[in-house]
Amino acid sequence: MVSLFFDEHLLFTPASSTSDAIPLIFAFPNEYSVGITSLGYQVVWATLASRSDLNVGRLFMDGQDSIPSQPEIVGFSLSWELDYVNVLDLLEQLKVPVRSHQRTDAHPIVFGGGPVLTANPEPFADFFDVILLGDGELLLAEFVDAYQAVRTSDRATQLFHLAQIPGIYVPSLYEPEYDGANGMFQAIAPIDAGIPTQVTKQTYRGNTLSTSTVVTAKAAWESIYMVEVVRSCPELCRFCLASYLTLPFRVAPLAKSLIPAIDRGLAVTNRIGLLGASVTQHPEFEALLQHLNQPQYDHVRVSLASVRTNTVTAQLAETLIKHDTQSITIAVESGSERVRQIVNKKLTTDEILVAAANAKVGGLKALKLYGMVGVPGESMTDVEQTAAMMAEIKKQVPGLKLTLGCSTFVPKAHTPFQWCGVNPEADRRLKYLQKQLRSQGIDFRPESYKGSVVQALISRGDRRLSHVLEYVRQCGASWGSYRRAFKELGDRLPPLDFYVHQQWDTEQPLPWQHLHGPLPVTTLQKHWAEAQTHMA
Ligand code: SF4
Repeated sequence: MVSLFFDEHLLFTPASSTSDAIPLIFAFPNEYSVGITSLGYQVVWATLASRSDLNVGRLFMDGQDSIPSQPEIVGFSLSWELDYVNVLDLLEQLKVPVRSHQRTDAHPIVFGGGPVLTANPEPFADFFDVILLGDGELLLAEFVDAYQAVRTSDRATQLFHLAQIPGIYVPSLYEPEYDGANGMFQAIAPIDAGIPTQVTKQTYRGNTLSTSTVVTAKAAWESIYMVEVVRSCPELCRFCLASYLTLPFRVAPLAKSLIPAIDRGLAVTNRIGLLGASVTQHPEFEALLQHLNQPQYDHVRVSLASVRTNTVTAQLAETLIKHDTQSITIAVESGSERVRQIVNKKLTTDEILVAAANAKVGGLKALKLYGMVGVPGESMTDVEQTAAMMAEIKKQVPGLKLTLGCSTFVPKAHTPFQWCGVNPEADRRLKYLQKQLRSQGIDFRPESYKGSVVQALISRGDRRLSHVLEYVRQCGASWGSYRRAFKELGDRLPPLDFYVHQQWDTEQPLPWQHLHGPLPVTTLQKHWAEAQTHMA
């Protein structure tokens, strides 16, 4: 069998491990092509593999690379909620008990990181010994150094020591309290006076951002070299985890960091991805485009992760065309100005029409818009306005292929909408848009409503949900399994409706209240109150 890894072009130099190096497995709970396309996974792997005091092997669902037989540490990067099933499968494959309390001194320390666990780790808390909250640039070295200091101690001592490091969360050292077994979450507190009462997500403030450490034709985006242009987003759309959880907004300096990184990558491939929650917000984005427009880069394919609607100029469209990109995606959220005000999207319908016109003038063939239904305060009239806006774009900019991708609003921890439930009307609203748009020849791509319900469940879940997750894993990850799990486990946790659809009181204790994000809860309450002023 041909190795998954033979094609890799490394952009860092792995260290030679010392004889007493710590054996460590760093896993991505999905296939290699997916994992190796995650910039976060690449960077963490390279950081670990660059240390001579670690002996690092990689593990994916479909392959492994030099994994040690008796690891002392096993780590996971979790990018998608439902990949938890694969985390548990891989733990069993490694003969490690899936619940942390079942592990003994003979088992490795299991750590996790990545966007899903940083947002709300509680539904998964019982599966991990350690969760790293925040930017890896800071946390990884501190985690490994702290482990080195207690390497020969027993497990309890190791975990107690690790819990002292800012950003390192050891869930088993915190005890939640509920109002009865299936009642509401009440509080969570350390089990020992020596454990910090709160864990604060760590923020990296250095002046370089992440870039690919490996390029391979086997990546889901074949042979792509990824450059993180910005981190976070200053726009603060009230539903947006990518903005609220990763504040403050940071940019990679163009001359000192971005251009040298791009030139390094383009020496080994001709495909580049510019990543970030809002890349066109980079203050020197025009100059970055000019750099890529030099003749030596004519053959380079450029992909942009996201484009702010009011930054779509004909020049941007021309640059993308020149670099082999035929379409552009803009997030508009809704056709209703009122809904855009509720979510704090500073964008008018006229600006959306101008962006579409610019895309066409610049030569792009297609425009994908991204929207949402079920936003708090949304009415059916707002949804009708989305259908009307799409029809207006089609009328004013004929010949541009239009697609509307549409999801259901899902509340996310650490955002001002964390107290809001999923609107049960959202499914009907998606179907309405489907009927209206497809009949006009506009491509409509809805995301599954039931999938959004599961996302919301995990997003606002507490630790009792781990039993639901295990049940679903055993019975097959279908919607019916979730419903059956709540029926069977009803005496051990609140109903599904409580987690997913109910509007929570803003004074209600939250399962993640001991884990501090960038903004205090009082600021989130203020932003929620501001959103409500637009709902009348
Ligand atoms: S502009 Fe996009 S990335 Fe920025 S806050 Fe709004 S939705 Fe999030």
